[in-house]
Amino acid sequence: MDDSQTMKILVIDDEQDIREGCVRVLKRIKGCEVSSAPNGTEGLGVLQKEFFPVVLLDLKMPGLDGMEVLQEIKKMEGREILVIIITGFATVETAIEAMKHGAYDFIPKPFDPTQLRIVVERALDKIRLTREAEMLELERQKTLADLDTEKSRISAIVKSLPIGVVVTNNAGQVVLMNPSFKNLLGLDAGRVPGEDISSYVPDQGFCDLVNEISRCDVIEDSEESTYELVLDGNKFLMTRGRPVLTESGDCLGAVVTLGDISSIRILDQLKSEFVAKVSHELRSPLSTIHEQLGVVLKDMGEDVDAQEDQYILSRAKEKTSGLISLIGDLLDLSRIESGGLAHNIQRVPLDELLKSIVDFLGARAKAKDQTLSLSLDGDSFPPLTADPLALESVFGNLVTNAINYTGEGGRIEVSMSMESGLLRVAVADNGYGIEERHQAKIFEKFYRVKDENTRFITGTGLGLPIVKGLVEQLGGEIRLDSAPGKGTTFTVLLPVEKQHAV
Ligand code: ADP
Repeated sequence: MDDSQTMKILVIDDEQDIREGCVRVLKRIKGCEVSSAPNGTEGLGVLQKEFFPVVLLDLKMPGLDGMEVLQEIKKMEGREILVIIITGFATVETAIEAMKHGAYDFIPKPFDPTQLRIVVERALDKIRLTREAEMLELERQKTLADLDTEKSRISAIVKSLPIGVVVTNNAGQVVLMNPSFKNLLGLDAGRVPGEDISSYVPDQGFCDLVNEISRCDVIEDSEESTYELVLDGNKFLMTRGRPVLTESGDCLGAVVTLGDISSIRILDQLKSEFVAKVSHELRSPLSTIHEQLGVVLKDMGEDVDAQEDQYILSRAKEKTSGLISLIGDLLDLSRIESGGLAHNIQRVPLDELLKSIVDFLGARAKAKDQTLSLSLDGDSFPPLTADPLALESVFGNLVTNAINYTGEGGRIEVSMSMESGLLRVAVADNGYGIEERHQAKIFEKFYRVKDENTRFITGTGLGLPIVKGLVEQLGGEIRLDSAPGKGTTFTVLLPVEKQHAV
């Protein structure tokens, strides 16, 4: 039992027998420390120095009598002392008198140990209950104080966050915005929340997203939606939003953060320009070397003595052709990143374009003993308005990948259909497949999966980023469905109506 739970009792009585008897009986109560004083003056002296929550006080004593001592005790400041009066004149009057002066209880003389214990234990119980109530109250106050500090701490943190934060309710009205948000959007520092998100952000795409998240329409609690907000054509903000849900899953609204990525975008642009420039400079000399190697190899003919040189030169020719295709990919990519390949926009019948790709790559598939087929679900398809080279690049890359990442004797099927006003082209293979953890990453530049199947396949890791970039410029989307060991299907959906940039 710790000190705070020890109950100290003081017995003030001039009769030695009673005093010592009380001490003996009370010491047996668990957790009690008992002291005694032979008269009122000494008793008060002890109480001045030390706190005793329970005092047993004889009424009739020489010198200061019990009633006077009681009055003095009641005047003492600090925690409450429960006084139990011991009286030989147990009359109703004395009891009332003592109670009037603030005694807690009384016990008539003569009393036996059990009676004494009962009265004292009742007092001790009351003290314990009072202490518990005090503790609870203290705890409640502390929790309230903590909550208060927590609230102001969180609000200070949100205010000083370097990223913009905006919170909406489930009707899409702004309930909180921090200074960074106002700053990024060029809003007045004094602008207050309360209006619809569209009053603060002049961008339909962003507002649609915020409204959808606010209603918790589109995404699960764990998912995050992103949107790139471009202001005045030169300020790029990456926005990320999540719904705010209660523990029971009710939708409270949305929380959206905004980060300024303008410098990253500018760097990206500079990098693309640099890569485009370097690639361009390298392409002609490399093509010349490639051609000249071809000429030298041809001149060497079937010369048996020069077989080793021929091997070295043909390896060099292979490498230059790899470099030329890398340069081609880099140039395509930087053109896409700088806003499109809009050279030769025309009406393109996609079914015919696919037929020619399948014919052209058929030889490559045949070399691996693969079947490459095209199936058209329908007789006529509306033409697309686009640069045919861009479309060739998209489907050429996908079919080449299907051939590359499918083993000998595999099957590749290109199918085309119309789906809710969109042209749908699927390139399906029964090849190596792609593990889930790589699936999002393969659309990133230079990302290649290296495992025992793909280790020896050469490539640049730029094909799919080019495909994705082009499909997005065509206003469409690309989906991937793949299972390791079973195969892969890339599905491209393209709108027919849109006037395409590429
Ligand atoms: P590259 O083919 O030059 O490596 P891509 O960007 O075209 O670059 O493809 C990236 C990666 O995606 C490839 O390295 C390969 O691991 C994987 N991949 C692409 N297409 C397929 C496919 N049809 N089946 C299996 N893996 C594929």
